[in-house]
Amino acid sequence: MSKKDDAHHKARTALSRLLAEGLAPTPENYALFYGPRYRSELLETACAALSGLFLEHPEIQTALERLQMLNLQGEREALQQHLQQIETKKAHWLNALTQLRQDFRKGVLFLEEQQQCCSQVVHSQQALTQQVNPDSLEELQAYHQNATVAWTQMQNLTHTLSSQVLALENLLEALEQGTPGGDSVADMDPLTQLLNRRGFMNRLKRTLASGVLLALDLDYFKRLNDRYGHPAGDFVLKAVAEILASECRTEDALGRFGGEEFLMFFPGVSLREGAKLAERLRQKLSMHRFQVSDLEHLHLTASLGLLYWDRAITAFDEAYNQVDRTLYEAKHKGRNCVVIKEA
Ligand code: GH3
Ligand code: MG
Ligand code: MG
Repeated sequence: MSKKDDAHHKARTALSRLLAEGLAPTPENYALFYGPRYRSELLETACAALSGLFLEHPEIQTALERLQMLNLQGEREALQQHLQQIETKKAHWLNALTQLRQDFRKGVLFLEEQQQCCSQVVHSQQALTQQVNPDSLEELQAYHQNATVAWTQMQNLTHTLSSQVLALENLLEALEQGTPGGDSVADMDPLTQLLNRRGFMNRLKRTLASGVLLALDLDYFKRLNDRYGHPAGDFVLKAVAEILASECRTEDALGRFGGEEFLMFFPGVSLREGAKLAERLRQKLSMHRFQVSDLEHLHLTASLGLLYWDRAITAFDEAYNQVDRTLYEAKHKGRNCVVIKEA
């Protein structure tokens, strides 16, 4: 076993033993169990930086293992660098966790409201049943009609409730695993490093918020491929992905949905804000110089469609169909434009 492997092995064993004992992997606990070699000032700072996070989460365990390994190897500089990386990542992790908690709270509030609506419907039905005169045909008919309306209302509410429960279950799972920002490799599109369809769907499962759904398709992309070649097309797709990503926050989902079609979801964003953002993207793309070779650069445009997606009302497939139709309206209007589907 090489020196490096050995240090890695020791660090890993030490960490798993501490966790098995139910002890936090602080330098003090390391030192207590394994001697002063497992302790250093930098390591203490690093562990302090990790406090408040889920220590059982694999990503954090890997970070801890690496810290201890570098410490055992006496690699101060690398330890320092790793510490900085952890600080950056910690901000991201905490941010994502806060977002999850907020979404969860919103979900619970929503469920409570829906529950109240349900019991109101039941109560008014009960009141009606008591008032109705069984001998009057007219009253009976009116009662029947009211009951049908109430029944449909209840069905709709139950439907919404169960989809919200599902979303909450997904959120809970994500919270328990502490993997709020965790897109796996299978979730990514290898060319652009954006989310693929599956990744986009997984992201949606981690938030309950409604917001703006935006579809974007590049104009006359086939021509571009024919004229400059497929590799140039690939280069342009990557550059477009970077431009789109530059307008997204961490909580937004950005995916490549087809060859040259992109889908974006901006939770918590209004249709007005979304429209401004879409226009900014359209302009940014149309003004960009895509340098496809040392000598050649090209310009390109995109068509965009957007709508406000109320997730308590509309399922993803339906919202996606609607936004896709809106995008095609933009194509028919002559391309290089934004079409908004008003509610
Ligand atoms: P429109 O303005 O109507 O959208 O025209 P278009 O040419 O962009 O649309 P069309 O759907 O006819 O063609 C899309 C082209 O995108 C066809 C295909 O060659 C190209 N394409 C799809 N995926 C990739 C890819 O991964 N790399 C490259 N270079 N091209 C791709
Ligand atoms: Mg196209
Ligand atoms: Mg297309």
